[in-house]
Amino acid sequence: MSADPSFSASRRAFLKLSRQTREVSISPPRSDETTLAAHCTGCSDCVTACPEKIIVLGSDRRPLLDFDKGACTFCDVCAEACPTDAIDSTRELDWPWKAEVQNTCLSMNGVMCRTCEDVCEPRAIRFKLALGGKSAPLVDFAQCTGCGACAHSCPAQAIRINKSQDQTKKVTA
Ligand code: SF4
Ligand code: SF4
Ligand code: SF4
Repeated sequence: MSADPSFSASRRAFLKLSRQTREVSISPPRSDETTLAAHCTGCSDCVTACPEKIIVLGSDRRPLLDFDKGACTFCDVCAEACPTDAIDSTRELDWPWKAEVQNTCLSMNGVMCRTCEDVCEPRAIRFKLALGGKSAPLVDFAQCTGCGACAHSCPAQAIRINKSQDQTKKVTA
């Protein structure tokens, strides 16, 4: 029996997605799943246009951001390239995504690392010292833009970009 070609294509696309895009789907800025479902044709113009090369098409051929590939600069090039306004440059930028550090963080486990702090341009990450040479990165949600640079750079893949449950969380260090 021959394989269903559409299933194989979908499966190949799924397997190419990073862990981040499989765990949580982040649509490009100035779009959401509803408008993409209504207007996106899967043409991939946004994928080609993104200067950071962080847009991938999911198994449904809708665009997703993949922070394994880089960070978003919110340049709006994807919106300008979209021929159907599925990504709409006139739409307000409503970006609820924030960095969240997982307990696989090297520094939390006593291994010296400050990569996320170094790459964070808004200086949203600070470290809180603890006993035993450990320290924990704390994200100031008020400063975090959700750009994904820290997630992209973390050598332990310990930062996920998630929809924040508590947008008012502040650094306590
Ligand atoms: S806003 Fe710019 S960097 Fe971000 S996904 Fe769109 S084209 Fe890429
Ligand atoms: S450019 Fe627009 S229509 Fe084409 S894949 Fe991207 S979001 Fe969909
Ligand atoms: S997502 Fe961007 S702004 Fe937020 S903590 Fe990471 S590098 Fe800093």
